[in-house]
Amino acid sequence: MSAMDRAANLARLRDEDFDVLVIGGGATGAGIALDAAARGLRTALVEAGDFASGTSSRSTKLVHGGVRYLERAVTHLDRAQFRLVREALAERATLLGIAPHLVHPLRTVVPAYSLRDAIFYRTGLWMYDRAAGAAGIGRSRYLSRAEMLRAFPGLRRKGLRGGVAYYDGQFDDARMNVTLVASAAAAGAAVVNYAYVTGFARSDGHIRGAAVRDMIGGEAVDVRARCVVNATGPFADTVRRMADPAARPMMKPSRGTHLAFDADWAPHGDALLIPRTPDGRVLFVTPWEGSVIAGTTDEPAPAASTPHPTEAEIDYLFEQLGHWFDPPPGRDDMRSSWAGLRPLIADPEAGGNTAKLVREHHIEVGKGGLVTIAGGKWTTYRLMAEETLDRVVADNDFDARPCSTRERPLLGAEGYSEDLAVTLAERHGLPGDVAAHLAHAYGGRAEELLSLAPAAANARLAEGHPYIEAEVVWAAGREMALTTEDVLARRLRLAFIDRDAANAARPRVEELLANAR
Ligand code: FAD
Repeated sequence: MSAMDRAANLARLRDEDFDVLVIGGGATGAGIALDAAARGLRTALVEAGDFASGTSSRSTKLVHGGVRYLERAVTHLDRAQFRLVREALAERATLLGIAPHLVHPLRTVVPAYSLRDAIFYRTGLWMYDRAAGAAGIGRSRYLSRAEMLRAFPGLRRKGLRGGVAYYDGQFDDARMNVTLVASAAAAGAAVVNYAYVTGFARSDGHIRGAAVRDMIGGEAVDVRARCVVNATGPFADTVRRMADPAARPMMKPSRGTHLAFDADWAPHGDALLIPRTPDGRVLFVTPWEGSVIAGTTDEPAPAASTPHPTEAEIDYLFEQLGHWFDPPPGRDDMRSSWAGLRPLIADPEAGGNTAKLVREHHIEVGKGGLVTIAGGKWTTYRLMAEETLDRVVADNDFDARPCSTRERPLLGAEGYSEDLAVTLAERHGLPGDVAAHLAHAYGGRAEELLSLAPAAANARLAEGHPYIEAEVVWAAGREMALTTEDVLARRLRLAFIDRDAANAARPRVEELLANAR
């Protein structure tokens, strides 16, 4: 039986005594569950919706040090910002090592329309290279005007002087999230999606577990745990108040919207950083999953389970893109849009401008011993997990092994190599795009996936996209996908990049899921 069998995991929640119960199956919670299980702690993870259904599937997909934090570090001589950059660059190198199938280097270009800007960007990115040190993945350099236009032929030409290229990482956030959960399960954690925490159980004033509602079967389950970790991202305050109704708010979520385009803006696979918007933001235009995504906005917003982009945000993004592209993209080119909530920590000095908040994480041990980990970014999930677990182990006097996640490969890393796609294509007669997609999404487990449903292996779910039917069978059996949206939005990413294609594929996915149940 797969370690990701939901019924068996749910039974474990009911029957076992855990050392650590993690609430929230996004990047942060999944990272903590893996770290805890790898240290030998009896670990459970519950997620109210699907794994990665919150912020962690809605990011810009960059594994990055944060070029704009560096700008602030330099212009305000701010050591804290510089430390954030270094920390994230070290994590970037770690993630490339533990998940080479899911994370890859991405060349990013920054256009310059004046000599002053070109010098400013070049100096900043030289410092970025220096901050990365041995964790660097490629050196930044000047680009001539011709090189800049080769990377992005649609850029506005008038006044363009050239630009600068630098390297960051890119990944598939939801697949990384599901892989973290599956890796935690393989290490012994009990993991359950659609399991909502409604309250806490106490003994002598100490939180010793949580009341969990199975959102599929409707059953109430009391989970017993010596320590409970709140990793609910934008919902951290809601869960803190379940433990302590008087807890002062800690979070100040901000909504970020992306648009997906059917466009070949970047024929050589580079990303574009738009360095300046009138409200002081940077925007990214990145090739991703055969599509181009552009974002993001930054609007203070309440915690809501499915945030939606507003028309004003979509208009804002089109307006900004219109400044940089000639001809500008039109609404007809847009294939999809989505929004996510940054789990930012409130900073009273930020004066309501969330673009100025520091994306740093914070660990709180609250009333009854509830541990809350809040803030941070995808890139630093592993570090956040390590620091949280160090605290949990020390406070509870747990007998645990040291953290091993810096070197521990995620599922699929073993058996992955640069030429896996070619091997898969040859061995299974797969088209190049399908083989490349399988190699990157599943790494060394792609062979096993293909062996699960050999007859269906080659059938595409949507014309022009590399997703195949065998993945639905795999998602149901090995990745705890329960609904068509789990499959189309998070195990595959079709719903994020092409809403119409996802809707057209829905009946077939439903059929395959029903057969797999
Ligand atoms: P979430 O992913 O939101 O997970 C919290 C989970 O808790 C949710 O799934 C929710 O359902 C669950 N939950 C809530 N209440 C309960 C309950 N009562 N019981 C059980 N479960 C519950 N970072 C980067 O490094 N690179 C980027 O390019 C990047 N781009 C971004 C772009 C945007 C627009 C946004 C919004 C963020 C971006 N980030 C990026 C930041 C990054 O995505 C987040 O920091 C990270 O995903 C947060 O993960 P999390 O697990 O803390 O929160």
